[in-house]
Amino acid sequence: MDKLVLYNTLSRKKEVFTPIKPPFVGLYVCGPTVYGNAHLGHARSAMSFDVVFRYMRYLGYKVRYVRNITDVGHLVGDLDHGESKIEKKARLEQLEPMEVAQFYLNSYIEDMTALNILRPSIEPRATGHIPEQIEMVEEILKNGYAYEVNGSVYFDVPKYDQDFGYGALSGRDLENIKAASRDNLEGTGEKRHSADFALWKKAEPSHLMRWDSPWSVGFPGWHLECTVMSTKYLGTKYDIHGGGMDLVFPHHEAEIAQSNACNCHAPKELQGEANFWLHNNMITLNGQKMGKSLGNAIDLKQFFSGEHDLLEKAYSPMNIRFFMLQAHYRSTLDFSNEALQASERGFKRICEGISRLEEISTKDRAVAVNTAFEENLISFMPDVRHQMNDDFHTAKTIARIFEALPVINQLHAQKNGPLAVKAETLTQFKQDFHTLFFDILGLKLEEESGNAGNELVDQLMGLITELRADARKEKNWAVSDKIRDGLGSLDIQLKDSADGTTWEIG
Ligand SMILES: [Zn+2]
Repeated sequence: MDKLVLYNTLSRKKEVFTPIKPPFVGLYVCGPTVYGNAHLGHARSAMSFDVVFRYMRYLGYKVRYVRNITDVGHLVGDLDHGESKIEKKARLEQLEPMEVAQFYLNSYIEDMTALNILRPSIEPRATGHIPEQIEMVEEILKNGYAYEVNGSVYFDVPKYDQDFGYGALSGRDLENIKAASRDNLEGTGEKRHSADFALWKKAEPSHLMRWDSPWSVGFPGWHLECTVMSTKYLGTKYDIHGGGMDLVFPHHEAEIAQSNACNCHAPKELQGEANFWLHNNMITLNGQKMGKSLGNAIDLKQFFSGEHDLLEKAYSPMNIRFFMLQAHYRSTLDFSNEALQASERGFKRICEGISRLEEISTKDRAVAVNTAFEENLISFMPDVRHQMNDDFHTAKTIARIFEALPVINQLHAQKNGPLAVKAETLTQFKQDFHTLFFDILGLKLEEESGNAGNELVDQLMGLITELRADARKEKNWAVSDKIRDGLGSLDIQLKDSADGTTWEIG
């Protein structure tokens, strides 16, 4: 495929991607609600859109990537009543809600960095945009698509439905939303219709996070922040909105409605919030949905350390990344020890391929071109672009890497004979392979983050202790003390004994 084609949830088909204002691309992705350690679902969403971000940049677009942090307003069960997810955690752990949010935000960033996921251009927090959220509620009220009851403000879905049609993204209509609603059992409470959702909630006396507003001291509804922050940083109409498939309804449907209700006097082409809606699929574990209540919710830190009953061993961040890339982002992905270990072997073969490729030199070598090899390497990057242009098909892209591996291995085996491809073909291929592996797929060689890192420290420490031993032999106490003190300040302790010097960290 010559052009980038994306599957748009809104139109339910693949469409050629054209930015609104080339070369700029506006990308908004729903980020985490920070009240617990990140799990595989968080990683899959962040990774899917990391690849979107990386590939768009590779294509030369100037991408403004905004991913929000939900630190207020997300209630347990995604409902309009009940406790806030963050406040519940704060109560259980006896912490300030902001302390909970910051702690898990730090933890999230740590895990995403381990997975080599690039930080977005802007990471706005919901609590940092309360005035803008109040303004949007006022605008929606003024346009007649919301109503106030006892200090809370609700979006008037039936009114909006008449003018715009509600449910275009999820394919639901008001009748089946009403039929599926839990409110049928619990009553709509203050809401006029079970499909209506909160824009502003009056805070209960026990609610800790609260702000003054024209209606009450309260807090914003969860859906509102994304419309507000995407509008603020990307405009009323931008290129791509992404998130997990579980967010299509009600979250993204509500976002579109809020945007249109706020922007209802704008021309039609400025409505709908984003041109393309992209959704990554879910992850299962041993064929089962993951969940705390099912006892199979494994967070990323547990995967990295192997500390969970369901894990046979630790899986490195790069193995998790590679494993996820082997599936298309819109397919479900099942995690199991067997699948992860098979993927680990595949990843190792690719890493070995890169090292071998480095060892093949073109310098002062006769050339005897093998046409099949030559064609394989020349068509590598066009094939990769073809697959990546097809809705970021990382699975088929990785399959193409495996097709190139036998050629690399053969060239490596014959590295002392004549070169079986043209020198410029090999040079270009090395560059292409690096661009794909490091920049587009965002992979790193395992040695960089794994045991080889420790090996390097071992070797360096061996060298330093040897230098110190030499200094001591020469009774050069100044140098030997300098080495000991310098290492001490790095938290590395030296222990001298009759057998020599050993060291330990901490
Ligand atoms: Zn969102």
